[in-house]
Amino acid sequence: MIINRASKLFQPIVALQKNQILINNESISKSTQLMLNNGIIKQSSPGIFHFLPVGLRVLDKLIKLIDTELRYVDAQKVMFPTLTHAKLWKASGRYQDVASELFKLKDRHDTEYLLSPTHEETSADLIASLGLVSFRKYPLKLYQITSKFRDEMKPRFGLMRARQFIMKDLYSFDIDVERSKKTYAQMCDCYDKIFAKLAIDWVKVLGSSGTMGGDLSHEYHLPSAIGEDKLVQCGDCNYSANLEYIHNIIKTEANITSCPNCSSSNIKITNGIEVGHTFLLGEKYSKALNSKYLAEDGKPKLLHMGSYGLGVSRIIAAAVEILSEETAIKWPTLLAPYRTVIIGPKIGSKEEAKLAVTPENVYQHLNVVNTLMDDVLYDDRSDMTIGKRLLEAKRTGYPFAIVLGSKATQNPPQFEVINLYNQDQHFLSLDQLVDFFSSSSNFDVCKLSSSAKV
Ligand SMILES: [Zn+2]
Repeated sequence: MIINRASKLFQPIVALQKNQILINNESISKSTQLMLNNGIIKQSSPGIFHFLPVGLRVLDKLIKLIDTELRYVDAQKVMFPTLTHAKLWKASGRYQDVASELFKLKDRHDTEYLLSPTHEETSADLIASLGLVSFRKYPLKLYQITSKFRDEMKPRFGLMRARQFIMKDLYSFDIDVERSKKTYAQMCDCYDKIFAKLAIDWVKVLGSSGTMGGDLSHEYHLPSAIGEDKLVQCGDCNYSANLEYIHNIIKTEANITSCPNCSSSNIKITNGIEVGHTFLLGEKYSKALNSKYLAEDGKPKLLHMGSYGLGVSRIIAAAVEILSEETAIKWPTLLAPYRTVIIGPKIGSKEEAKLAVTPENVYQHLNVVNTLMDDVLYDDRSDMTIGKRLLEAKRTGYPFAIVLGSKATQNPPQFEVINLYNQDQHFLSLDQLVDFFSSSSNFDVCKLSSSAKV
C-alpha cells in the first residue's frame, strides 16, 4: 500500500512567528498570503504561479467535482489548442476589441497567434470545419479545463487576478434560439449545484456581455470585501445585477438607491468576486466563423451558441479568502488537500514506547473508508512534537487530525480526533474511527462550521 507521508511532501512552509504576517502589501490578499506561506502555491513571476503538490490536490479535486456535474448535463470534455490563429479572432472582431489584454506572438513564418483567454472562435471554427452536420447531432456541449492567459495591467491578489490561470470553458451549440435558452437554464442549474457542493455562499446576478457580445449574461460571485465588483440585490423582487450592468442600462454612473426592476428602496449592495460567467451568444460567433448545420428542411442554418466559464483557480483563492482565519487556511471540505492527518507520538517519548497500534495500522484501517480513499496523510515527522505538527495541519487546512497520544497506549487504545475547523474533540476506538469517517454527516458538520459569513 502506498502511504502518503508528510516527510516526503514537497510543501515549503514559511516559518512564521506566532501571528506574524509575512508580507504587508495591499495587493496581497489574505488568501494569497496563506497559500504562499503554507507551500500551496509559489509565485514564478508577477501574476504567474506554480501549483505545488498540496495546491494541486485541491485543484484536482475541484476539477473532478466540476467534471462530475458536467457529465449530468451531457457535456463532453475536450482540449482545444492554447495557440489560436489570429485570423479567427480577426473574423469575430475581437482581435481589435480586447487587443491590450491579449498575449500575442508570431511563429517563424511571421504568422500571428495568440495565447487564448477563451475559445468561442476556436470551438465555432471546429464545428464549421465539420461541414453541414444533421440537426439530429445537436445540442452539443464541449468544454475543457485548461490554462488561460490574460495580460493583466495590474495582476493582484494572487490567483484571483493572475496572468495565467485555470478556467473551465464550455461552448454549447443549439439549432435554434429556444433550444439554446433551454441549454442556458440547464447550465445555470448545473452551476448552482457546483457552488452548493462547495458549501459556500454565492450570488447570481445579471451581467454585462461586454466584448463577448450576445443577448443574455449572468455572473456568479462569491461575496467578499476584497471583491472588485459591486452587486445590487433587491429584497423585494429578487432582482440582482452587477452595478456595472445597471449603469449600462440606465446610461449613467449615478448612485443606485432603488431597484431598477420594482423601484423598491429595499436594496443591498455588496462586493463580489466573479467566479463564473454565462453568455447566451446567439449567432455572433457562428456567423463570423460560418458554423452551420443541416436543418430538417434540408437547408443550412446558423447554430446558436452559449459560452459558460468558471474561474477554477479563482474559485480556490476566493474560497480561501472567505472561509479562512488570519493564520490558518480553511477549504471547502470537499476540496481540502487531505481530509485527515494522522499524527503519532514524538520519537523517544514514553507514548511511543508503549503504543498498542502504530500510526501505519491506523492509516491502513482508514484508507479503506470510502470518504477517505487516498485522502489520509500520515505525518511521520516524529522528530517534531505533536503540537508543532498539529499547528502545521491547522495552518494547511486539513479538516481533521487523528492524534496517537497517551490514550493510544491504553488497552483498548483510544485515538483523539480533532476537528481543526471548529476544535471539536472525540476519543474513539479503532472501529469507531472507521464509523466516524464513514459517516458523511461528520463532514457536513465540518462544512457548517467552516462557512463563516462575510
Ligand atoms: Zn426589486
